[in-house]
Amino acid sequence: MTSARHGTMVIGAGVAGMSAALYLLRAGVSVAVIDPLPPGGGASFGNAGLLSPDTAVPIALPGMLRKVPGWLTDPLGPLSVRPGYFPTALPWLLRWIEAGRLQRVMAISDAMRALHREAMDCWKELLGAGRYGELIRPAGQVHVWEGDADTANAGVERQVRERHGIKTEPLTQDDLRQIFPGIAREVTRGLLVPGNAYTVSPLRSVRALAELFQQEGGLLIHERAMKLIPQDGGGWMVMTNTANRLADNVVVASGAWSRQLLDPLGVTVALETERGYHAMILDPEVVPRLPISNKTRAFGVTPMEDGLRVAGTVEIAGLDAPPNEARAKILVQHAKRMFPGLSGAKVSYWMGFRPSTPDSLPILGPAPGRPGLHLAFGHGHFGMTGGPPSGRLVARLLTGQPPGLDPKPYAAQRFG
Ligand SMILES: Cc1cc2nc3c(=O)[nH]c(=O)nc-3n(C[C@H](O)[C@H](O)[C@H](O)COP(=O)(O)OP(=O)(O)OC[C@H]3O[C@@H](n4cnc5c(N)ncnc54)[C@H](O)[C@@H]3O)c2cc1C
Repeated sequence: MTSARHGTMVIGAGVAGMSAALYLLRAGVSVAVIDPLPPGGGASFGNAGLLSPDTAVPIALPGMLRKVPGWLTDPLGPLSVRPGYFPTALPWLLRWIEAGRLQRVMAISDAMRALHREAMDCWKELLGAGRYGELIRPAGQVHVWEGDADTANAGVERQVRERHGIKTEPLTQDDLRQIFPGIAREVTRGLLVPGNAYTVSPLRSVRALAELFQQEGGLLIHERAMKLIPQDGGGWMVMTNTANRLADNVVVASGAWSRQLLDPLGVTVALETERGYHAMILDPEVVPRLPISNKTRAFGVTPMEDGLRVAGTVEIAGLDAPPNEARAKILVQHAKRMFPGLSGAKVSYWMGFRPSTPDSLPILGPAPGRPGLHLAFGHGHFGMTGGPPSGRLVARLLTGQPPGLDPKPYAAQRFG
């Protein structure tokens, strides 16, 4: 069995872990990242690639309680809870509903905005101008609706945008048909959010962070952390599947799996997984030139370098239940309805585990009562956006630099 000593060990090579690791390394810390999967093999692999500093709207919104019966009875709806998993998820769901009160939504939105507003600068800082230009498209995102009726929380979303001075441009049906030739007539209006962006490959973006990390002297270790053991006199032992590794500091960035390492230590966090799906349409007949979020049907399409990614849906069913590929197939139906020219002849399907907190804010910074243990997970629907600025914040807190923003809204202490 290997026995080794490291400065800081980051557990998890997703967008959150790799961002924290690279910021720490550049702050002069010796860093090892440990993950049994290659970098970007978790939720960071298959997301929709939207980088949304100008969104700032949490997932839990007013009126959630009314919707619970639908979640339980429609297994193919945009949000579903597997009935057998409902009792396990209930405490988290109650907190989620609580986070949807209007007053909380505005406070959460302020914290999201504070964290995300420099997301694009962080991506550029981490990747460097060349890779940023290759992987990131700071070209805006478009929201669309079918018909005249507003979706339930359109008013709240407007309020959030006004609160933060976020610029948008309304689009008519004609505008939409010009920007997106071939879009169905059912799509009647839209909104351009020019300050948002997307990546043409979430996987390559995270891999680029990992390549830079290794080039700059970081160590990537292909092992699974099984247990974190505090050491007398300070530091931690990370017991892995094949080694005992000692570290002065540990950063848990293990996405939806983070509680497996924290529960045994008595570090309590409200973390659940919102499972999401994508369908990748290969060689698509239609390629929209910007990502589109269809608000009426709750799904999105993103033009990526290897095809058209149709993503969305939330399924609360835990970490162990097998995927329900019917949920991914529905996404293809939605995309074909929005772009009738798509045949959807060649498609690959994927399911991933969003690491989600009830208030849509990540859990960042020192773990309460556990010196040398730091947290960097819980980004839910916004990890590609929030991963880099969170990595910067966690690195600043760990190395004693000024954090640059108030870290309290993201602290684990908020869960009591
Ligand atoms: C369908 C879908 C669409 C999405 N769309 C968007 C979007 O458009 N924009 C956006 O910003 N976000 C989006 N997201 C969310 C985003 O993908 C996640 O928030 C983000 O990827 C989380 O990153 P992470 O690094 O925390 O977790 P992950 O990427 O899941 O990485 C965690 C890593 O930890 C490793 N790990 C776990 N346990 C251990 C252990 N014991 N030892 C060692 N390693 C371990 C895992 O192997 C994994 O590699 C979407 C998610 C889904 C599912």
